[in-house]
Order: sequence, then structure tokens, then C-alpha cells
Amino acid sequence: MTSGAGDNPAAWERIAELADQCVMCGLCLPHCPTYRVHRCESESPRGRIALAQALARGRLGDPQSAQAPLDHCLGCLSCEGVCPAKVHYGELISSTRALGPPSSKPSALWVRRLAATDWAVRVGGWTHRVWSSLGSPRWFLPGWLAALAVGVPPARSAPTSNLANAGSASGNRWLFTGCAAAAIDQPARSAAAELLAALGISVTTHPHTGCCGQMHRAAGDFDQSQRLAKRLAQRLDESGVTQLLSLGSGCHAQLCRATGGGRVADLGRFLDQLPALKQARFRPLPLRAELHLPCSQRSDVKDTQSWRSLLSRIPQLQLNVINSGPSCCGAAGTHCLEQPETAATLRNELIDGLDPAAELLLTTNPGCAMYLRAGLVQRSSPRRVVHPVQVLAEQLELEPTDE
Ligand code: SF4
Ligand code: SF4
Repeated sequence: MTSGAGDNPAAWERIAELADQCVMCGLCLPHCPTYRVHRCESESPRGRIALAQALARGRLGDPQSAQAPLDHCLGCLSCEGVCPAKVHYGELISSTRALGPPSSKPSALWVRRLAATDWAVRVGGWTHRVWSSLGSPRWFLPGWLAALAVGVPPARSAPTSNLANAGSASGNRWLFTGCAAAAIDQPARSAAAELLAALGISVTTHPHTGCCGQMHRAAGDFDQSQRLAKRLAQRLDESGVTQLLSLGSGCHAQLCRATGGGRVADLGRFLDQLPALKQARFRPLPLRAELHLPCSQRSDVKDTQSWRSLLSRIPQLQLNVINSGPSCCGAAGTHCLEQPETAATLRNELIDGLDPAAELLLTTNPGCAMYLRAGLVQRSSPRRVVHPVQVLAEQLELEPTDE
């Protein structure tokens, strides 16, 4: 591993500066999922900051020894949210991992490479079904490869809405599709397109936006992440996209980084501020649901209210919000493949705490949805795991047309 004495001294100096802001109080430790599981300093934010600092100052006898604890970080940023010294942990861990070696986990590396290809759209849906039915992250890669080997029919393209009645539509607005999420997340994307259409908003769900590179960034594969972000920005520019709606909270921050941020809008926030939605009526849904707020929804989108507010418009829906505090379901990009035991512990913790009477689990991150769904399948739970926009679209009461 490169250290402070090696290449890029300015970047290492910045890491040292960020690490110096930590007063080592330890207040973040109880909020760190990996610390809660492993109970050792090197698996805590404070321990990782100390390692980054030692690397930056060239004080670590064996720099390679820092790789595992840094790799194990979920990037949930729960620590950053509670830090009284306002340490920029996200920047610190990203920069430190960027200067270190890429992930040593070949299975996850292959998954990231596959997910970034356009034809991943073709296999994503099948992999999802295989994984969900087998219920274990161990089967994710074999499932994916099996789907490749047997040949997979093209994924059904999400509908493209170019509405004649798009009264409040303006510009060229796209719903972001992404990598394998283009297949995995298709029900949510279709629901979003239908809901927006009913509200008079024209939106295109284009099948070729491509991967944003977030999964690669989270795993420390920064070169590939930047290449994908650049490719995405180029595609959007070439197509004259003026607004990009992000459906999955996990992609939001990377989409902002890739495109400069100005034209990216989180779907929940967008809908919650939409005058047409405030006037819309929803059919009653007399059941209990739980809203899971992924780390990315809290730390990247920085919005824990919009989906609650939107869902509160549905009469008789009893909504309980989980994960409103610092936590992680364990999915964390490809972390659940690289650290399956830690991930399973975190997922079990979350599932154990669910309301047994709730029939729906709502989450805004397709990775979390997939991982939680697999955990529920393992327990033979009939609970549906869906994006909240699907419930909104299903319950929207359409005005009768004149025809
Ligand atoms: S980002 Fe999450 S997993 Fe990583 S150190 Fe902070 S709290 Fe722990
Ligand atoms: S990161 Fe913040 S909360 Fe955690 S030990 Fe350092 S100063 Fe304290």
C-alpha cells in the first residue's frame, strides 16, 4: 500500500489534515455497525481514522495491515452524522481507499465489473430471482453466472412516457436506470413513470444511462468509478437531459458527483414538492407497513421526511419508520459478498426488530431491498419488499376521464 512517503503527497497531506480533526472522543463508536458486531478498535471509525493518519504520516510499520479494516467499512456514514468535531469521515475514508490497493475480493470485483456493463441489464432480473429464491448472498455470483451460461432473454424495457397531457412537464427529464438495477428495479421504475404520468409529468426511462460507478467507489475502485461517471455524464450531455430523477438512494450522491449535481433530483423530494401530488387522492390501504431508511437515504440524499410525508397521504396505512437512527442492513454495495458474516449479523438484527404484523417493507435502495428480501425468504416470510413509489402508484386514485 502506498503511504504518506509515497506518491501523491498532497492527497496524503489532506488525509492527515482530516484525521487531525478527530479528537478521539469515541462518541461515534456505538453508532458504527462494524464496531457493534466486532467490538474492536480497528473496526471502528476512530480506529480507521487512526490507521489513515498513520498511513498518511508514514508511521505504519506494515501498511498492508490497514487494508482489511479500511475495506470492512460499510461507508454508511453513521459516524459522520454523530461526530461533534464534524470530521469529514466520508472524504477521509474515500481518499484513503483511493490511494490504497483495490479490493482483494475477486468475486465482488467481478460482480462490479459485470454490473457496469450494459448487458448486465439482461441478467440482472434473473440473478435477482435466483438470489432471492436461494436466500443467501453466497449464491449471488453463481446465480449471476448461471444466468449468463444458460442465456437470458433481454430484459423488458421500462415504458417510455412521452405524454400528450404533460401539462407541467418541462425540458428533457429522465428517470435514472443504472446498471443491473435497470432489471432489478424495473417494477419501481415503471411505478414511478406511471405515477408521474398520472400527475402530468413527462419522463423518459431510458435503458442506456449505464452504471453511475457508485458500487465501484464504495469498494475503493476509484479509477473505474470515475470512468463510469464520465461515461454517464457524456451520455446525458449528448441526449440533452435537463433533469435526472434518482430512484435509488444509493446512486444519488454519485449521480451528483458525475453530473455536477444541478440537474439531479431525488424522486421522493421531487414528488413531495410537486403541487399536482398535493392535490392527488389515494385509495385507503388498511395494513401495516415499515419504511426502511437506508444509510444512503440518510447520509447522501439527506432526506428522511419526504417518503414519510408522501406515504402519510394514503388513508388507513399504518406506517412505522425503522432505521431512522444510525444503522445498516449489511448490504452496503458489494459488502454483503465480501463480508457475508458481518452483513448477515446486521441483517438479522434488522429483521429481528421488524413488526411481525407488518405486511410491507418499503425501502429506497434496490441493493438493500434485494438483500433484505433474500433474508426474509430465508425465514419464509411472506412480507413484500418494495420501493415506496410502488405503493403510491398502486393507491393513486385516478380521476375518471371524459371519454
Ligand atoms: S462509515 Fe459506517 S461502517 Fe464505516 S466507520 Fe463510519 S459508522 Fe462505521
Ligand atoms: S470521528 Fe468524531 S466522534 Fe468519532 S472519535 Fe473522532 S471526533 Fe469523536
